[in-house]
Amino acid sequence: MTRKRYLDYAATTPTHPEVAKAMYPYFTEMYGNPSSLHFYGQEARDTVEKARAQVASFLGAQPGEIIFTSGGTEADNTALIGIAYANESRGNHIIISTIEHHAVIETSHFLEKRGFKITALSVDSYGMVDPDDVRKAITSKTILISVMHASNEVGTIQPIAQIGKIAHEADVCFHTDAVQTFGHIPLDVGKQKVDLLSISAHKLYGPKGVGALYVRKGCKIVPFIHGGGQEDGRRGSTHNVPGIVGFAKALEIAVEEMDEEAQRVTAFRDRLIRGLLDGVSYTRLNGHPTKRLPNNVNVSIDFVEGEAMLLNLDFEGICASTGSACSSLSMEASHVLMAMGIPTERARCSLRFSLGKWTTEDDIDTVLEVLPRIVTKLRAISPLAATKTA
Ligand SMILES: *Cc1c(COP(=O)(O)O)cnc(C)c1O
Repeated sequence: MTRKRYLDYAATTPTHPEVAKAMYPYFTEMYGNPSSLHFYGQEARDTVEKARAQVASFLGAQPGEIIFTSGGTEADNTALIGIAYANESRGNHIIISTIEHHAVIETSHFLEKRGFKITALSVDSYGMVDPDDVRKAITSKTILISVMHASNEVGTIQPIAQIGKIAHEADVCFHTDAVQTFGHIPLDVGKQKVDLLSISAHKLYGPKGVGALYVRKGCKIVPFIHGGGQEDGRRGSTHNVPGIVGFAKALEIAVEEMDEEAQRVTAFRDRLIRGLLDGVSYTRLNGHPTKRLPNNVNVSIDFVEGEAMLLNLDFEGICASTGSACSSLSMEASHVLMAMGIPTERARCSLRFSLGKWTTEDDIDTVLEVLPRIVTKLRAISPLAATKTA
């Protein structure tokens, strides 16, 4: 069997062996419930609080401003629903962008059905939100602005500091989904004027099912997971102690390696982009050429269905994606590419490679060797390509 080459780090990352090792004793020896008053409980509580302080410190936040969640989706849901219902008396208008993750878009639909008004800002052809559009969309009823830090699909990094400034001037809360950037590029909630920020551990070599929401002190949210009063009454449920330990360990490693890793991966990213644009005809880069996640490559290769390329790549041991993991199940063209004004036919011809810690130069070169062959083969049997590329 051919060696598998995993190039889908934006969907999830392998858990770092050091992270798995750090978690293990919290299943077998230090299994206490942080809410228990005895030795085991206190030990677990200290561990959770230490992890909380680490996450806060990385963001330039206070420990009390971090709520541990079951992941990025719950953090996004908590931010939108929590702010919406805490501010009902002030207003009912929420601003998001058209390229948000489903966790934000679907939550906004949920709120829209319950009387909230949603404005979804359009983006330019690079997938970039214009801060001026944010300013113009704010009304006296606006209670929340939610614009993601970087797109999981096309990698475009948004001008969140500028948007944060506008939000603060208008006295509106600003939420950003930073799942793709946390632990990968520097973040500072003070400098970037962010009030709420979503994180997920499994996108930075931590375990799945754990994440966090940063909520600025004084920013009120209504809890929606009710239970035993954990997280200062902001989120019920017994803490996922091993998960939180793994999350903190993953962050510790990420901080140590961040600059070096970003540089290494950026070089691979640019080598892959260049190679695809030069080596495969009718190929275009999706997303911003420079204001882009270090690990994201998203291209449209005309006249060949993304799904067909994906399956052929998989057959050769290369694991990529056609867009977000969710849209690959639905077979619809990506809402992000459509929002960028890319025609449906071209959006369906898109491929995403997302690189990471265990990506090698050999992986990149293998894609550059294998993919042109696959494209040629698929175009040869595509009636669309026959007329257009002949
Ligand atoms: C993966 C992802 C999420 C969802 O996080 P989970 O922990 O898988 O729930 C949300 N937003 C973005 C941008 C993501 O990439």
